[in-house]
Amino acid sequence: EEHLVIMDDTAIRRALTRIAHEIVEKNKGIDDCVIVGIRTRGVYIANRVAERIGEIEGKPVPVRELDITQYRDDRQDESVATAKMESAAALGEIDGIPFRTKDKRIILFDDVLYTGRTIRAAMDALMDCGRPRSIQLAVLVDRGHRELPIRPDFVGKNVPTSKQEQIQVSLQEIDLKDQVTIIHH
Ligand code: 5GP
Ligand code: MG
Repeated sequence: EEHLVIMDDTAIRRALTRIAHEIVEKNKGIDDCVIVGIRTRGVYIANRVAERIGEIEGKPVPVRELDITQYRDDRQDESVATAKMESAAALGEIDGIPFRTKDKRIILFDDVLYTGRTIRAAMDALMDCGRPRSIQLAVLVDRGHRELPIRPDFVGKNVPTSKQEQIQVSLQEIDLKDQVTIIHH
């Protein structure tokens, strides 16, 4: 097994700063924008970018968390409906104020984009909370191998991989360092 470093802390920091600027530029500001991080590491990335956007624009952009682990289309049992409700509820439960996606510009964040099934499920959950004005996608790493017609609007780094390879994303908040490596088995 071989680990190859493809982003160090500086590269990650610069990529997230660039993405913050790209989001502000694309949306001509951050009015009606809501940043939604997909658990687990997408949330940390979302929070970092939101912090930078706050500095750029001089006002905070709201951040929400989404857990779609129970929500994927490869789950067969009838608990999918329950998981869907729990996921939508999780998105809505911040200080008892329900999250309404209606007319919002949602910017979804995840660490790695692969087949696209997680993002499809996330969009499904978001749609359950209302009709957003738009949904955009930001990822730290796009490793390819899409199985659905989904492409990111903001990418930290495109990393062509084989299906046998894996991307390891380490973030200071939980992994005690910032680093992206590619693992060849
Ligand atoms: P997808 O649903 O697009 O197939 O996979 C994306 C989701 O699975 C993301 O939430 C991501 O965290 C995880 N994932 C898929 N492939 C990798 C990978 O190579 N490395 C890491 N760290 N996560 C991955
Ligand atoms: Mg994930």
